[in-house]
Amino acid sequence: MAKRNFIVNAFMKKCPRCQEGDLFVQPFEFSKPVNMPEHCPVCKQKYEPEPGFYYGSMFLSYIFSAFFFLGIMGLCLIFFKLSLNASMGILLLVAGSTYFFFLRMSRSIWINIMVKFDPDAKEKKDVQSFGY
Ligand SMILES: [Zn+2]
Repeated sequence: MAKRNFIVNAFMKKCPRCQEGDLFVQPFEFSKPVNMPEHCPVCKQKYEPEPGFYYGSMFLSYIFSAFFFLGIMGLCLIFFKLSLNASMGILLLVAGSTYFFFLRMSRSIWINIMVKFDPDAKEKKDVQSFGY
C-alpha cells in the first residue's frame, strides 16, 4: 500500500502505522469524546504508547484553536463590522461546536507525528509502541 501524507492521514483519523485502522471508537459518544481502542484493530499499534502520551497534543490543540478563533474574531470585527459582544457570542458558539473536532484532531495529529508509517505493519501484527 502506498504511503499517505501524514497530515491527510491525521485528518482521516487513521492509524499512523498501517493507515487503515480507525483511531477512535465509532460511533461518537458525548460521554467519551476521546474513546480510543487500546490497539489498532488492523496492525496492533498501541494507541497510548506511554502514560500521558497525549499531553503534547494539548499544545497542538491550543495553537490550532487559538489561531482559528483569532481568525473568527477578525472576520466578525473587521470584515462583517459586528460589535464586540456579537462577535464574542458568535465565537462562543463556534468554540462550542468545534471543541470535539479540535480535541480529536490534535490527538490524531500528535500520534501521526510520533509514530511512523510501516508498509508491512499488517503482516507483522506485533504490538508496537512507537513503530521503530
Ligand atoms: Zn494500524
